[in-house]
Amino acid sequence: MKKLGALIASFAIGIASFAPMAFAQDKGVVGISMPTKTSTRWISDGETMEKLFKEAGYTPDLQFADDDIPNQLAQIENMVTKGAKVLVIGAIDGTTLSDILQKAADAGVKVIAYDRLIRDSGNVDYYATFDNFQVGVLQATSLVNGLKAKFPDTKPWNVELFGGSPDDNNAFFFYDGAMSVLQPMIDSGEIVVKSGQMGMDQVGTLRWDGTVAQARMENLLSSTYTEDKLHGALSPYDGLSIGILSALKGVGYGSGDMAMPVVTGQDAELPSVKSILADEQSSTVFKDTRELAKVTVAMVDAIMGGKTPEVNDEKTYNNGVKVVPSYLLKPVAVDKSNAKDILVGAGYYTAEQIDN
Ligand code: BGC
Repeated sequence: MKKLGALIASFAIGIASFAPMAFAQDKGVVGISMPTKTSTRWISDGETMEKLFKEAGYTPDLQFADDDIPNQLAQIENMVTKGAKVLVIGAIDGTTLSDILQKAADAGVKVIAYDRLIRDSGNVDYYATFDNFQVGVLQATSLVNGLKAKFPDTKPWNVELFGGSPDDNNAFFFYDGAMSVLQPMIDSGEIVVKSGQMGMDQVGTLRWDGTVAQARMENLLSSTYTEDKLHGALSPYDGLSIGILSALKGVGYGSGDMAMPVVTGQDAELPSVKSILADEQSSTVFKDTRELAKVTVAMVDAIMGGKTPEVNDEKTYNNGVKVVPSYLLKPVAVDKSNAKDILVGAGYYTAEQIDN
């Protein structure tokens, strides 16, 4: 009887000492608000974070906002109401979140801007992203290298410029990075933008919509390139590149004596990687979203543990109210020569995915 009592007592102590531990593992809810599912990168960002947050003892609440601003606001509001301790937000429009972030701050919720800077709010604690200016530099550099390789005897090269969504702060960094390489060549006459359309107000593509880029390319081809040939298009995102390439193919580029212009991209999305290997799209920029997710989870874990997260840039990203301390990862240029090595090597895709 005594023995049984002791056994029960030690069992009870066991439960008692186990229970707080289990409780300590529940580090609270993290709201993850991703902009859209139309591009695979955001799905993978969201799902990787969901997995890593679970492994770190958090309860992730992952929502995708279908590129609809009111939808994203409602989802974030709901996360705050449900008691999220931290919000990780990939904004659709980086300027629309001030009110909801004020509510979040009032409730003591910390906020990480994920990949896209949230503007016009003091309530953004940290920013995890890639070196966005460098993305543009890589795009323009591969455009120029492609022009030299594909059209060595042609001068000047006719190039058209495409920008990302004007409500996404990144779009300006990509454009400015690219123009840091292209503007001197435009000034020297080596590159000509025959349409004259330059600057984000003229070349931006709302919501990064590939069909909008396709329509603009079609218009440019019929208005400006009936006699002269186009040699290159600066495209800041694979989804736009696909649209631009369709417009080009539609008027015969890529067959007969009409060489396919050099077209850049970003995100190393599978259709674009295949297009690169098929000699259509020329390049893309690989940003390992798994690494971005890792950095973000580490940031959140540091904040929640009362520590200061690691950052490596405290000057570049002024959101209009404050300079947001940032961690910038390195983007990598990818073309036909290195696509498999880099993407399969990193385990981002299998060789089979790329080849099929
Ligand atoms: C991201 C890019 C992406 C684009 C469109 C940008 O904010 O940084 O990686 O191509 O959005 O989704």
